[in-house]
Amino acid sequence: MEEAFIGEILAGDRRAVARAISMVEDGTPELPELSAALYPHTGRAYTVGLTGSPGVGKSSLAEQLVRAARSRDLTVAVLAIDPTSPFTGGALLGDRLRMQAHATDPGVFIRSMATRGHLGGMALAAPEAIRVLDASGVDLVMVETVGVGQVEVEVAKATDTTLVVVTPGWGDSIQVAKAGILEIADVFVVNKADGEGAPRAAADLEAMLGMGEKHDWVPPVVSTSATDGSGVDELWDSIDRHRKHLESTGSLGEKRRRRLLAEVEGMVALRLRDRVTAMLDGGVNSDLAQGLMSREIDPYAASARLAEQAEAGGDRAG
Ligand code: GDP
Repeated sequence: MEEAFIGEILAGDRRAVARAISMVEDGTPELPELSAALYPHTGRAYTVGLTGSPGVGKSSLAEQLVRAARSRDLTVAVLAIDPTSPFTGGALLGDRLRMQAHATDPGVFIRSMATRGHLGGMALAAPEAIRVLDASGVDLVMVETVGVGQVEVEVAKATDTTLVVVTPGWGDSIQVAKAGILEIADVFVVNKADGEGAPRAAADLEAMLGMGEKHDWVPPVVSTSATDGSGVDELWDSIDRHRKHLESTGSLGEKRRRRLLAEVEGMVALRLRDRVTAMLDGGVNSDLAQGLMSREIDPYAASARLAEQAEAGGDRAG
């Protein structure tokens, strides 16, 4: 990997940053090299995730938060993630058009992302893409996901402060509860508060939160209108308070440490699985199948034997 390319990423060159994120999407063989070069320069950006059902206004809110960041002289990157799509979807591109107000602002970087070839899927690709943006020197990275599925929840958890966005209709409340995203919210946003029912929805949410386990941080519920911008300053303040809470209690470091370890665990699991697959494809398969079919070996013993062989293979390889 050319040193110049790494230098460009670190200097925040947009084309280089975009290219690096494409490499993450594609899962190119140079990824380990890229990661090694960038990693020492990461850990500086603050990361905020936005999750919630489609149509609640995540993109519009992200746009508002970009404004809020810029008016505070902070540089910001927005990563819009669609785990369900193998390529960057049309809807997301449409959303991006609304961000055109920032198209000429060098302090704003906006990028949609899908995983085309990354073996670990979005759960592993997203943190890597976030690190590219972090290394590029932005103060704030916002990560927006399209829906409330399992992968979206994983991705949303990969940030320092997670915003869960709902609307006053609150029809998505059940979906929110089902997907287990109540638990991951650091701040709740009741968006479209310019319409009817926002106070009621906020009160319902607060009641629901009151019934949950007590933690040292109680997620605030903030009502916003992404169309007229009301409540956005309060939302910004809530994010800021959460950040200060994490920093003052040492939870930020702890949260990041846990995240990194979970990520490494995921990578190791992927490696081992690949090796076992390769072993099975490489002939171990027929012996093993025969043993299983003739009842000479049971599935537990077979898996233990295979795992042992995979480990031994690992010693040879490295
Ligand atoms: P996303 O799918 O969650 O990213 O939602 P979008 O940001 O794309 O918004 C979906 C639709 O809701 C768009 O037509 C927005 O203009 C509209 N919208 C977003 N926020 C608000 C809001 O606060 N009030 C109203 N009335 N409409 C909003």
